[in-house]
Amino acid sequence: MDKKTVDLQTLQDFAASRGGVCRADGSADPHDPVEWTCARGHRFSALPQLLMEGGYWCPECFPTIETSSQWDWDEIAKQDPLLRSVHVKD
Ligand SMILES: [Zn+2]
Repeated sequence: MDKKTVDLQTLQDFAASRGGVCRADGSADPHDPVEWTCARGHRFSALPQLLMEGGYWCPECFPTIETSSQWDWDEIAKQDPLLRSVHVKD
């Protein structure tokens, strides 16, 4: 991604695809942190580029390799449309 800004609609559409919202008030530089709220109400700050190109999302909802066994995949998949599209119940 080059230095172009990302418009607010694109940010909000992306957030909606994860079941959350983007709290930017206008277009943003993809390399500057923007505020987001996930489907479970966690607020976090992250670079649009990292989320939109890297597949990252809420750091509180998403597990690290160490904590993934305690993570409630089924519950979070209900609230995150993107995860739901790839999540397979055991
Ligand atoms: Zn969260």
